[in-house]
Amino acid sequence: MSELTLPTFADVVAASERIAGVAHATPVQTSRTINEALGAEVFFKCENLQRMGAFKFRGGYNSLARFTPEQRKAGVVAFSSGNHAQAIALSARLLGIPATIVMPHDAPAAKVAATKGYGAQVVIYDRYKEDREQIGRDLAAKHGLTLIPPYDHPDVIAGQGTAAKELLEEVGPLDFVFAPLGGGGLLAGTALSTRALSPNATIYGVEPEAGNDGQQSFRSGSIVHIDTPKTIADGAQTQHLGNLTFPIIQRDVNDILTASDEQLRAEMRFFAERMKMVVEPTGCLGLAAARAMKDQLQGKRVGIIISGGNVDIPRYAELLAG
Ligand SMILES: *Cc1c(COP(=O)(O)O)cnc(C)c1O
Repeated sequence: MSELTLPTFADVVAASERIAGVAHATPVQTSRTINEALGAEVFFKCENLQRMGAFKFRGGYNSLARFTPEQRKAGVVAFSSGNHAQAIALSARLLGIPATIVMPHDAPAAKVAATKGYGAQVVIYDRYKEDREQIGRDLAAKHGLTLIPPYDHPDVIAGQGTAAKELLEEVGPLDFVFAPLGGGGLLAGTALSTRALSPNATIYGVEPEAGNDGQQSFRSGSIVHIDTPKTIADGAQTQHLGNLTFPIIQRDVNDILTASDEQLRAEMRFFAERMKMVVEPTGCLGLAAARAMKDQLQGKRVGIIISGGNVDIPRYAELLAG
């Protein structure tokens, strides 16, 4: 563990220069309805409006922009249930790098189609039977490809941290920051930016109730592995935190909270009805947790990262109706 070099806020600053003019500086939205409901001043960082529909473009582009000419020529491989795949596929296309993406058989159709649409080669695997990390590593070894994992990589973490950096630079210091948690790239990056720009803020990661490995890890002090959780929050169906993300989260984050699928559906409806925004289930984790602890947020300034907006429209309609 001691040889691991953790990314720092300086890496987030370097990442923000690398992605400038390529990634969107996404809008920060507010809602009088939510301010009244929570008794707080709430700022939503809208990564559902990021290129390819999620913050993952930030980390993906930052990673690929650092490739050597040899790495660019050989290509990149990534494994992902969706948004990381699209992020790598789009970044690779923009930088002229060949991309191979390993995706689960049950990945949302829109995400598979979008990944192929960006020109990537897609390799399908069975998420309940096969080990995607092994498939990715084998492809990398066989064809000399560079593997970019979805969260446990310094350039990915630094890139993801640029969203919170933009938020804090725009609205100033906050009392609370809520970010969705899967493998921890977004939360670790968010924590690096928040500790640098708003040191006294309370930072919460929020994961699906059905897969609270992050909460168990945070509270026990070592990385807990679980089976792939069954939840509508498909962007956070990870089985464990990473060797880089976990120590940053342990050091800089205040606690890990959870939200149920029912809460996520209610927040999807809220975003659609009141804020006219399509937010995918995983993107609703932050607001769900904030609403559940509103008594502690009275009169406070609260930042919530909406992590993404990619959801098949028929599925979206089903989730809103149910
Ligand atoms: C990947 C993803 C997450 C979780 O991010 P991690 O870096 O794995 O913690 C949350 N929301 C959306 C929309 C995602 O695509």
